Amino acid sequence: MVSTRVDLTLLGVRGSPPVNRTGGAGPTDDGHFLIDGLNASIPRNQNSPFIFDGSRILRDGADCGVEISVIDRPRFYDLTTEDGVRYEQIATLHGRDVLATTVVQTCVRYDEAQRCRFCSIEESLRSGSTVAVKRPGQLAEVARAAVDLDGVTQMVMTTGTSNGTDRGAKHLARCVHAVKEAVPELPIQVQCEPPADLSTIDDLRYAGADAIGIHVESLDDDVRRTWMPGKASVPLAEYWAAWHHAVKVFGRNQVSTYLLVGLGEDPEELISGATLLADSGVYPFVVPFRPHAGTLAVDVDGARAPDPALVEKISREVAAHLRLVGMLGGDQSAGCAACGACGVLQSLGA
Ligand code: SF4
Repeated sequence: MVSTRVDLTLLGVRGSPPVNRTGGAGPTDDGHFLIDGLNASIPRNQNSPFIFDGSRILRDGADCGVEISVIDRPRFYDLTTEDGVRYEQIATLHGRDVLATTVVQTCVRYDEAQRCRFCSIEESLRSGSTVAVKRPGQLAEVARAAVDLDGVTQMVMTTGTSNGTDRGAKHLARCVHAVKEAVPELPIQVQCEPPADLSTIDDLRYAGADAIGIHVESLDDDVRRTWMPGKASVPLAEYWAAWHHAVKVFGRNQVSTYLLVGLGEDPEELISGATLLADSGVYPFVVPFRPHAGTLAVDVDGARAPDPALVEKISREVAAHLRLVGMLGGDQSAGCAACGACGVLQSLGA
């Protein structure tokens, strides 16, 4: 039932499943489940009307009718590197089978005037749940274990943005190379801002990356300036140049971007932008904005989650177009669109 899936994504659940995370890049403070067999990242919210009782999701005391399974704590979390870093601090399990890491957990844009207002990338660093820079050898060791012990089938590597013109992509390439040497069968998606020199995208591909996410979050410049003042200094034209180049290098539907619903963009413009992206070979991963503590959006702006009806309408229309042009998240070799947990497009057949 898509409307319940949307409600869960926005309102979250009370209770905590075994796999969850606090702080970090992108949507956080979530618990990971399978809903109707698909990955689902659901916010943990002690005020939610939905209660997770360990095996079911209840609303007003009644089973809300979604088929839910818990994802067990992975075995690789119990391992530690020789120099004493817990594997869990290097990479985490997302959904049932995605290994995710932020290779550099700091961002040049984290100053309060520049930071994306929904981001808490450095909060997990302060809490000690991760380490600032993941070394290529550490990631290779953890990836090998996660595949062997827990059946991980794909890896997502994101990064905070660095000062250099590569915006962090060079370290990503070194990490991809090391993981591919250790675990050649593991598909990897890299995520970064558009590098100033487009040949850096080729370098990521040559290092072994199978897919790439270049995340704009909104195609509306006013929204970008309000919500992502630092990232908005990179013009949309640079995003389009990077997406077009990435499609040439990685192939159609091996490139993706996040589009957040609920930042105030005109819904019809969001849908037409998503359509244009899809027609250009870029999967528009439509995801509702999720407010969580520790971000400027909540702590300073008091931002709220979007209207569920709006999320459902936009997701339905974008999913219909994606199905029409034959672009499915599940056809990406790796990455957020392949995982699908943070949005509802896969529940709508896209
Ligand atoms: S969609 Fe991306 S961020 Fe969300 S759970 Fe999946 S891999 Fe993680």
